[in-house]
Amino acid sequence: MSKKRIAILGSTGSIGTQALDVIEAYPEIFSVGVLTAQNNADLLIEQAVKFLPKVVVIGNESFYDKVSAALSSFPIKVYGGNSALVSVVESDSIDIVLTAMVGYAGLLPTIHAIKAGKNIALANKETLVVAGELITNLAKENNVSIYPVDSEHSAIFQCLTGEGNNPIEKIILTASGGPFRGKESSFLASVTKQQALKHPNWSMGAKITIDSATLMNKGLEVIEAKWLFDLSASQIDVIVHPQSIIHSMVQFEDGSIKAQMGLPDMKLPIQYALHYPYRLKSSFPRFDFAAYPSLTFEKPDLETFRNLAIAYQALEKRGNAACIVNAANEIAVEAFLQDRIGFLEISDVIIESIAKIGYVENPTYLDYVNTNEATRRFALEMIQVKV
Ligand code: NDP
Ligand code: MG
Repeated sequence: MSKKRIAILGSTGSIGTQALDVIEAYPEIFSVGVLTAQNNADLLIEQAVKFLPKVVVIGNESFYDKVSAALSSFPIKVYGGNSALVSVVESDSIDIVLTAMVGYAGLLPTIHAIKAGKNIALANKETLVVAGELITNLAKENNVSIYPVDSEHSAIFQCLTGEGNNPIEKIILTASGGPFRGKESSFLASVTKQQALKHPNWSMGAKITIDSATLMNKGLEVIEAKWLFDLSASQIDVIVHPQSIIHSMVQFEDGSIKAQMGLPDMKLPIQYALHYPYRLKSSFPRFDFAAYPSLTFEKPDLETFRNLAIAYQALEKRGNAACIVNAANEIAVEAFLQDRIGFLEISDVIIESIAKIGYVENPTYLDYVNTNEATRRFALEMIQVKV
């Protein structure tokens, strides 16, 4: 069998580096075709020297000379600027694209990869949140598979394996509850980014860690699940499960529930997505039932953690509503990380953006671009007035 050649968009991040660990562990199965990063030129160079991809892209063009000089003696093409991402994903020398960059920036390269017939291992959930309908239609038209990397969606995907056309009654997405589980608004009003960045169970990039603390991550995952598994909002439940051992569940029409379990480790869903339908023998630590005498479950608090309720509303509203939510959230999270707004103001920025930005019922790609830009501008102005 020839090796699967992988393009990793965002190879220097949390998902990107873990994907390279997986590739390194199975050199007879995987090879690296493309690596990309935004600013972390040093790590990108180190990865390129080790994995020898055909192409690397550094998004921030001011690092192009540095990367290009460091790799000049290797048979590696170097590009600067994110516009190169859309062509590198179309290359004949790759088989699958792992979208491991953060945020809206994932949308356009994913569209190009699908149009070029590349299967997608999707970590970048924002792409499906912003334009789920467009992406899933494109994937169907181009006969492309989208394999989920997000642990909850991988769990559901694994539970569905072997079920043929058996309809899903509902899915149950599990949520850790984040570092502020059980806290009230009066407490959340003054939490710092240092507190918010301390996730109890997972070590991830800054944006998704804040999203986990506000429960926006679960909201984005509800929307992601809608598009991946063709469900209605009422078929998607969220339950808080602080131990993060059950990664999500599917309930079928006979009432039977299947769960996928294991210790939290993103390498498992990454390798399942990259090598589907095969499972790879791993040495990851195994779950021990005796070490966890109680797995607990509780309802999410949608009044305190407003972002989860906002995401459900955007899903019901369809059109460009989730695109507005995503853009406002990206700006608000960035502002929170810069100590420019408080934790609770993240939801305020999103709610005001939804009220302000025009609704488009059947958005085209250009409508998404315009909605994203208009929302970012509005959210930034709002934050400037506040501080
Ligand atoms: P990180 O912040 O750790 O990494 C992001 C990666 O994307 C880096 O390689 C970064 O480059 C690159 N990047 C940043 N901005 C841009 C841009 N504008 N254009 C292109 N590339 C960019 O994020 P994570 O790995 O945590 O998350 C990546 C995606 O996976 C997110 O969508 C997240 O929601 C999703 N995900 C992550 C999980 C996790 O465990 N981390 C779990 C489930 C989903 P540089 O390093 O140079 O800045
Ligand atoms: Mg997840």
